[in-house]
Amino acid sequence: MLERLQEIRKKIDSGFADVGSLKDLENLRVGIVGKKGALSLLFAELKNLATEEKKEVAKELNTIREDFESRLHTLKDKLQLTELCEKLESEYIDTSLFHRLKPKSLGHPINQILEKIIEYFVSLNFSIQTGPLVEDDFHNFEALNLPKFHPARDMQDTFYFKDSMLLRTHTSPVQIRTMQDSHLPIRIIAPGAVFRRDYDLTHSPMFHQVEGLVVDKTGKVSFAHLKYILEDFLRYMFGDVKVRFRSSFFPFTEPSAEVDISCVFCKGDGCRVCSHTGWLEVLGCGVVDENVFKAVEYKDVSGYAFGLGVERFAMLIHRVSDLRSFYESDLRVLEQF
Ligand SMILES: [Zn+2]
Repeated sequence: MLERLQEIRKKIDSGFADVGSLKDLENLRVGIVGKKGALSLLFAELKNLATEEKKEVAKELNTIREDFESRLHTLKDKLQLTELCEKLESEYIDTSLFHRLKPKSLGHPINQILEKIIEYFVSLNFSIQTGPLVEDDFHNFEALNLPKFHPARDMQDTFYFKDSMLLRTHTSPVQIRTMQDSHLPIRIIAPGAVFRRDYDLTHSPMFHQVEGLVVDKTGKVSFAHLKYILEDFLRYMFGDVKVRFRSSFFPFTEPSAEVDISCVFCKGDGCRVCSHTGWLEVLGCGVVDENVFKAVEYKDVSGYAFGLGVERFAMLIHRVSDLRSFYESDLRVLEQF
């Protein structure tokens, strides 16, 4: 019996030496003190021994068991700690990594102004219309009372493609396309990019216009409506400014007017920006010319139209003197808006 006790001590020692994980340790525990474990079987055999030997062996067996369980617990604690550390290591998130702060996007200043303009007209139930950037001669000129050889065509330097296609020089062709496709009443704005061969402090080859058009049966739409809406709109955009209408000429409207606001820089006292007049021109408008209605085969209607440059509005509202700074993608400039 004492030999077998020696054997089981060796078995326990070699068992512990082989344990590499909690699972190994559990297998060892079952193999020694489990129901059919080596030590449990020895305890079961105690009853076959003579009283004197039984006492001695039982004492020895208890010592072995206590020793085994003590080592088991110690090793278990150690293995649990090791496994926890490994787990933490494998799931580690390096929060010390430098995080590059992304600049907050607030939209390009041109878009901000465009959105504000759209917001105003949408609140008055105007719908938004768009049209192609590459236009044909009919929609960009002909139908807008600008026949070939009309001197007013010289007012606009146009980018031409083959077959009399061109980059639209204004958003007015959207008026024509809308009238060709819609029923009365028409109440639209047409925001979008337009193109002209021009480049200096206040001109860019690509810029944005918003065109407005209202058409209804004769007598339902008048210059008075136009005047009311534009005055209200300009105060919405520029705050408390004076507004004046100046007689002017556009081929597609008759009568036509240019609209000025009192200078936002000098409050009308006169400064360099307003050429010491106290006024700034901000848009063009008028009653739609009969020839435009003829081109789209409209009869017994009246209407008004207006057009404005979004960049010009942005320059005046943000007090920017060089239009080109909007397009140079310099974040130091754009971040200010
Ligand atoms: Zn001024």
